Amino acid sequence: MKASRPALRTPRSLIRPIIRRLHGYIPGEQPKIKDLIKLNTNENSYPPSPKVLAAIKEAIDGRLRLYPNPTAQLLREDLARFHGCEASNIIVGNGSDELLAIATRAFVEPDRSVLARCEAREGASALKAGVTARSTVQFFTPSYSLYPVLAEIHGARTNAVPLARDFGLPTTQQLRREKIWDFHAALSFITTPNAPSGRGYSTTELAALCDAQRGVTILDEAYVDFASENALELGLKHPHVLIARTFSKAYSLCFQRVGYFVGHPELIAALDKVRDSYNVNGLGQIAAQATLGALAYYKGNFRKIIATRERFSLELTQLGFDVFPSQTNFMLMRPPRFAAREWLDRLRSEKILVRWFNTPEVVNYLRVTVGTDVEADAMLRAAKRILRALG
Ligand SMILES: *Cc1c(COP(=O)(O)O)cnc(C)c1O
Repeated sequence: MKASRPALRTPRSLIRPIIRRLHGYIPGEQPKIKDLIKLNTNENSYPPSPKVLAAIKEAIDGRLRLYPNPTAQLLREDLARFHGCEASNIIVGNGSDELLAIATRAFVEPDRSVLARCEAREGASALKAGVTARSTVQFFTPSYSLYPVLAEIHGARTNAVPLARDFGLPTTQQLRREKIWDFHAALSFITTPNAPSGRGYSTTELAALCDAQRGVTILDEAYVDFASENALELGLKHPHVLIARTFSKAYSLCFQRVGYFVGHPELIAALDKVRDSYNVNGLGQIAAQATLGALAYYKGNFRKIIATRERFSLELTQLGFDVFPSQTNFMLMRPPRFAAREWLDRLRSEKILVRWFNTPEVVNYLRVTVGTDVEADAMLRAAKRILRALG
């Protein structure tokens, strides 16, 4: 008697349809080639403070065999002092990216019609959309391209609403009139200052938007230390507003992966239930604490980067680049003479790495990180050589 064997399953058939058709987030390149000037991922060109490096080195011993503090307790207490709030207002993540993902899982219902559509293979029999705000992840475009990926993974609906042509935030009246923004969406992400445009938003306009919002609203302030205003107070004032911050960009700590949210203790507690028990690695916690003990050093770096940004912008403008004003450590610019895509390649042959996004709103632009004066000068020289070669 032959035992009947179950049909062989292909690995593909084992993967949820929604994940099969997912386009994952594409991070900027981390090149292996040396001596490339890296202006493509908005890392800080200045190293961490010597105090931070010393604190990390000091912590590297037999303690590495132990689990780190599961709630990043000491770091949260330091952050609470820094921001004038309680530790219960703060959750720390493995980078703020992790917290953005956890927020999607904690606040948004997967939409069964989105899931069913995927199962019916690319919408062959699109069910009548059980469209509900509770399943909607909302954001402006262009902004951080991770948001739609998080929504897709979760089986949520997305509502992508265009910013003004100059990347300004539409007013609440405009959003109401045009009925394109859902004030009841379960989760709205607002990148402020905006990426990839670099445009800053005033606390007044953000406050008006937050007042009108009914769902959880995350103000993603990844670049706020380079801006003239921040909206932290809105996270402490409103129960539905969370402020996302990171040690990556302004505090030169991308490698360590430490970010955090500030907001109402009940939302923070909900996120806390969803995260992994030991989500923030021990050396990261130590590095972030030491960073808070060396703020004068970082403020000096912010000043330098802002000064470089203003000069860099002026000189690029003189070369014919159309540079948007920036409140961040990067600038969005439309290059002269030929397409942004071609500039990307030509700059790369000049050993300058910048970022180009193949998305309609910004396809004609390059995003260039503001590093040191030396790096800015190298890019300016490369741009001049490229333009000269054209004759
Ligand atoms: C870089 C970035 C983040 C993520 O920062 P990490 O803390 O390194 O995960 C979040 N939001 C925006 C807009 C960013 O540019």
